[in-house]
Amino acid sequence: MDETSDFLLLKIILVGDALVGKTCILQRYVDHSFHHSYVSTIGIDFKVKTLHLNDKFIKLQIWDTAGQERFHTISTRYFRGAHGLLIIYDITNSVSFDNVVGWMKDVDANAGEDVDRIILGNKCDLEEKRIVSKEKGAKLAWEHGARFFETSAKDNVNIEKAFLALVQDIMNKN
Ligand code: GDP
Ligand code: MG
Repeated sequence: MDETSDFLLLKIILVGDALVGKTCILQRYVDHSFHHSYVSTIGIDFKVKTLHLNDKFIKLQIWDTAGQERFHTISTRYFRGAHGLLIIYDITNSVSFDNVVGWMKDVDANAGEDVDRIILGNKCDLEEKRIVSKEKGAKLAWEHGARFFETSAKDNVNIEKAFLALVQDIMNKN
């Protein structure tokens, strides 16, 4: 962790299948906005958000995959030096849920097994289209020693909470 007195820089990365809502979650958290239209590759690697927590100024550098996830080959540069990660699936898409395990393996191999992680079941506003139960998500997270939240980037459900929980886990460890 880069630390100069009371200032911390933390690298957080977002992983998960294409279309689960990674870019929307990032935009909701950092820019407080949501776009219904498809948000294509944004060409920006990361966004920065500053927090003041426990008398420390924390700069979160949050990396989006910018479309690489489509090919399931995320460059190792992306994972390097990560302090925490959010593994995201879509509760209306069972394939994206099944792929969480694969993403977890990628993370173990590239970022290390001790990097803090949180699993998010996104699009929880779409209850009528739900395919993956909350219990299934919670069980998977428990099996992998990860925290779990269901989120909605659209309705702003649990987004702040999830990032805060991740940052607090990272801080408690260091
Ligand atoms: P990414 O490929 O993982 O970055 O996914 P995007 O952030 O581009 O989102 C893919 C699509 O899902 C877009 O059409 C979004 O508007 C939609 N979407 C993202 N998050 C939510 C959400 O929480 N609820 C709903 N209903 N739609 C969402
Ligand atoms: Mg995206």
